[in-house]
Amino acid sequence: MDSCDALIVGGGPAGSSCAWRLRQAGLDVLVVDAAVFPRDKVCAGWITPPVVSALDLDTEDYRQGRTFQPITAFRVGLISGGRDVHTKYGHPVSYGIRRCEFDHYLLRRSGARLKAGVRVTSIRRAGGQWMVNDAIRAPLLIGAGGQFCPVARAMNGVASTAPLVVAQEAEFPIEANDVASSAIEGEAPELYFCRDLKGYGWCFRKGKYLNVGLGRLDRQSLPRATSEFITFLTRKGKISAGTGPRWRGHAYSVYQSPDRRVVGDGMMLVGDAAGLAYPESGEGIRPAVESGLLAAEAVVAASADYSGERLRSYEERLRARFGARSVPSALSAMVPAQFGTSVARQLLKTPAFVRHVVLDRWFLHA
Ligand SMILES: Cc1cc2nc3c(=O)[nH]c(=O)nc-3n(C[C@H](O)[C@H](O)[C@H](O)COP(=O)(O)OP(=O)(O)OC[C@H]3O[C@@H](n4cnc5c(N)ncnc54)[C@H](O)[C@@H]3O)c2cc1C
Repeated sequence: MDSCDALIVGGGPAGSSCAWRLRQAGLDVLVVDAAVFPRDKVCAGWITPPVVSALDLDTEDYRQGRTFQPITAFRVGLISGGRDVHTKYGHPVSYGIRRCEFDHYLLRRSGARLKAGVRVTSIRRAGGQWMVNDAIRAPLLIGAGGQFCPVARAMNGVASTAPLVVAQEAEFPIEANDVASSAIEGEAPELYFCRDLKGYGWCFRKGKYLNVGLGRLDRQSLPRATSEFITFLTRKGKISAGTGPRWRGHAYSVYQSPDRRVVGDGMMLVGDAAGLAYPESGEGIRPAVESGLLAAEAVVAASADYSGERLRSYEERLRARFGARSVPSALSAMVPAQFGTSVARQLLKTPAFVRHVVLDRWFLHA
């Protein structure tokens, strides 16, 4: 039987950020993850500057042997919709990372003990402690297992009713000769909205890697939408004919309102397990990191009394930080419903709207 002060299920950005802060406070922290690191995660791998500052990331150290692509501009348009809008910022407003590197780096840096390749299958309460897989005992259990987190299931039972984004993504290396001649600038990711505005596709070069994907609220039409997107990118000369990406799929809920519990007796949820991704952009790394840190601060403040009452400050701070964002169901989680589709399609061709609303407000939260 292993034991620790805090057991974190999931070593993604939420779990590793929480572990890092708890270790700094001197707790014995054990992270259990079903995967063996370095592991990949279906993700475009785009992070905003608040992630770098919240993590106090030493970017010089990080970029040694890892991909760290500054983003200073964006191209935004409609799939098969004519002219794109090119918005230049002239300084880095985001960065591109590879999740297989980023998550591994953060987890190692956290200083927590790690049990990798161990899937959590059972959680039960015994003598005021949590027993996980009948092999690990802890007074505090933190659910950082993403969309299908077993701790979230144990706390909330039924799945959340929040809108579910379904996505397909592929990340692959580009031949050395093709990097210089690539039609996609590393500094300027390309975002193309579906014509019904129920999702968007992206094409993003991070150094020697290309990441292509598409996310939608409508599961049934996802395969058709991704195939149309690839045809569109090929016609535009962005990817070579016959590239045929090997898609990896994933689904996750975006933050609608605090509709599910995130705190219980000796139990907390962080990151995707708490359903915190931004509805407009799908950005989930920043909320994962911020919630992981907030949860750790609440734990430290609770001074080893992990009753739901003592940990409640986490829920309050989460609510204060993320508010009660509501996603109108009429259009999509990605494009607010106050615009009709035809008006929105026109707006997406307007440089001022793209810069101030789509990019600054929805994607960069500036
Ligand atoms: C296609 C796509 C593109 C995206 N692009 C971006 C982007 O560019 N930028 C951005 O900010 N966000 C993006 N996101 C969202 C982002 O990937 C997530 O919000 C983020 O990974 C959440 O981090 P997390 O730590 O909560 O969970 P995760 O990163 O999902 O980590 C959860 C961990 O828990 C482990 N786990 C799960 N179940 C168990 C179990 N039973 N036992 C043990 N371990 C378990 C998993 O192995 C995993 O390592 C994207 C999502 C998708 C689907």
